[in-house]
Amino acid sequence: MLVPMIAASAPANALKVLKSVWGYDAFRGVQEGIVQTVLDGGNALVLMPTGGGKSLCYQLPALLRPGVGIIVSPLIALMKDQVDTLRQLGVRAAFLNSTLSAGEVRDVEAALLAGELDLLYAAPERLLLPRTLELLSRAQIALFAIDEAHCVSQWGHDFRPEYQQLSVLPQRFPTIPRLALTATADDRTRADIVQVLGLTGAPAFVSSFDRPNIQYRVAAKESPKSQLLDFIRTEHAGDAGIVYCMSRKSVEETAKWLVAQGIDAVPYHAGLAPREREEAQNRFLNEEGLIVVATVAFGMGIDKPNVRFVAHLDLPKSMEGYYQETGRAGRDSLPSTAWMVYGLADVVNVRRMLAQSAAPDEVRRVEAAKLDALLTYCETASCRRQMLLEYFGETLAEPCGNCDTCLTPPRTRDATREAQMALSAAIRTGNRFGAAHLTDVLLGRDTEKVRGMGHHLLPTYGVGAAHSEKTWRNVLRQLVSLGYLTTDANGHGSLIATAKARPLLKGETTLSLREDVLLPRTASRAERRPNRSATLDAADQPVFDALRAWRLDKAREQSVPPYVIFHDATLTAIAQMRPSSLAALGSVTGVGGRKLDAYGDDVLAVIRQQQGGAAPTLTRQQAEAVRGVSSNLAVLSVLKAAPVSTSPASSGNLTEALRELRTSLSRESGHSAFLVFPNATLEALAVRQPRTLADLQGIAGMGEKRIQAYGERIVEVVREMQGE
Ligand code: ADP
Ligand code: ZN
Repeated sequence: MLVPMIAASAPANALKVLKSVWGYDAFRGVQEGIVQTVLDGGNALVLMPTGGGKSLCYQLPALLRPGVGIIVSPLIALMKDQVDTLRQLGVRAAFLNSTLSAGEVRDVEAALLAGELDLLYAAPERLLLPRTLELLSRAQIALFAIDEAHCVSQWGHDFRPEYQQLSVLPQRFPTIPRLALTATADDRTRADIVQVLGLTGAPAFVSSFDRPNIQYRVAAKESPKSQLLDFIRTEHAGDAGIVYCMSRKSVEETAKWLVAQGIDAVPYHAGLAPREREEAQNRFLNEEGLIVVATVAFGMGIDKPNVRFVAHLDLPKSMEGYYQETGRAGRDSLPSTAWMVYGLADVVNVRRMLAQSAAPDEVRRVEAAKLDALLTYCETASCRRQMLLEYFGETLAEPCGNCDTCLTPPRTRDATREAQMALSAAIRTGNRFGAAHLTDVLLGRDTEKVRGMGHHLLPTYGVGAAHSEKTWRNVLRQLVSLGYLTTDANGHGSLIATAKARPLLKGETTLSLREDVLLPRTASRAERRPNRSATLDAADQPVFDALRAWRLDKAREQSVPPYVIFHDATLTAIAQMRPSSLAALGSVTGVGGRKLDAYGDDVLAVIRQQQGGAAPTLTRQQAEAVRGVSSNLAVLSVLKAAPVSTSPASSGNLTEALRELRTSLSRESGHSAFLVFPNATLEALAVRQPRTLADLQGIAGMGEKRIQAYGERIVEVVREMQGE
């Protein structure tokens, strides 16, 4: 990777502010080096995926350096949200864009000159006005952060001419640190950013583009709407999500259908009136469990952190599109799902669109390669994450364990014979027919078209009768996906054997296909991993729900989206820890000083109320003792001191203690709790009660890495709980 080896560690006061304002205990990955670089007055280029934690990289140094941090952002719709979020943290933030009245603009400008702002967001066209530039030259500026910096590049799809004029920043303010941030990392874009923003020689901080909390899944399309409904009901009931469809018509139909099934969904596409689109977007941001069914028109500028799933009912345009669209799930690092179904018709369709494209040859070759990569990804039998990252030039050494092919590995088997049959059916019928007719020929069906064309006389007629129609459609789909068959521009969906088919037909090469093609099977319910339970135990769920209801009330009171009050990750951590004092609550990641002041008492009241109703795992005496103490650790020691009726430790108490440990480890490492170890592992640990590192081996989920990182601490807790 390109991360320069800067031995920088942010000074103690940076960590202090990180904790007191944001409630975070540690920097994540490259954040620390970036913060240090800017605090030292340097420039930097930051390439981080969505959800990687870019905003902290400029917000925190802006608080520590004298003056105001100026954030250039093209996403006007997001500015209010960001400013609301910062104000909740107690930061003095404002924005300047075309939505403000003249009076409001004057107020912001006055605050800027009076040194009353920590952060100021501005749209580029506003910043570039001579009046604004003049104003800035009279203010004290801590730094410039140029968000979505890829907009300077004509290569990208988000090119904005105003962004190119940002070259005035290095010219007029050469000594003020500039930070360019983007989630688009290809080399051409990067070079443009460096050139326009004058970043030659500045360090580039590149973090991995992996999104470990997103579970990637791709399945064969059978009855897409019911598949979607089943997916939502079994894994994401009540969650917010985005469903992408190719056409406006299917957007409308799918949304209507979901609503008819009792699911809260709204359509969104470019054909709707601006007011309708705005309303859909506002509802999505401000409500908890809304699903937006949309064309790709929806997404840019959607910063909602708790989108729990992104579903594709049609193929995206490319791997880039897929990564960007699925990336809108789980910005808050909690488990999320990227789910897609696709079928033969989709594959034929995208190949045809490419064939019909009027673009110059060179462009078409690039597009064809991109499409091939996407289709290969869809058909793969190996780890999807490895393949996805590989495409973006990153290597993941081990299969990820959090994609469908890792979780339920498909078997592959030699399908050379079936492929030869299908290919020769295409060739012998003159490369002029679509999948439906080829399937009829392979199955030996006696249709009018078969007779009319004389195809019942062909040697291929009926050779495939041993397999089902579904199998043949799946084989044909894979052949089109993998480029053995293609389609022409005439729009009839004729399948044409390509040059790649020849060696296969001659028996010079073989082809193995996913077994599920020849033997279709659907994952049993037990095999699926409902995402929510990976984060929350059933016992914690009511507490989480109560906190969420309280949060929604608070958000409504202040007219802000709920996640501005607390993120889901924070509510989850609170529900798991169930703190009984302000001090304990303040130790939860995401609870900074201002929020503790504003909401602490409320949150404790919600928890007390819940504790009263639910059957606690602690004895009453213990629970009472716990209520009186003030820190996480104290809770542990009370549990330890309490007489334990059975030795070894009762597994209920041990579960609690391990959960406390996990909360601490999660804080220390900056990883979400479920990444430290999942609930299933936690339960296994409580049952097995490992007392040595060797005992840990073989416990589900305790791989070498986890043992190395957390083993000592785990056995320590087990021993303590057993009364040592
Ligand atoms: P990006 O702008 O790169 O998409 P954000 O800045 O919105 O990402 O951050 C993504 C999420 O990560 C947010 O929920 C944020 O609160 C959280 N986050 C960022 N840095 C940290 C950290 N050091 N510790 C814990 N959570 C963090
Ligand atoms: Zn995987």
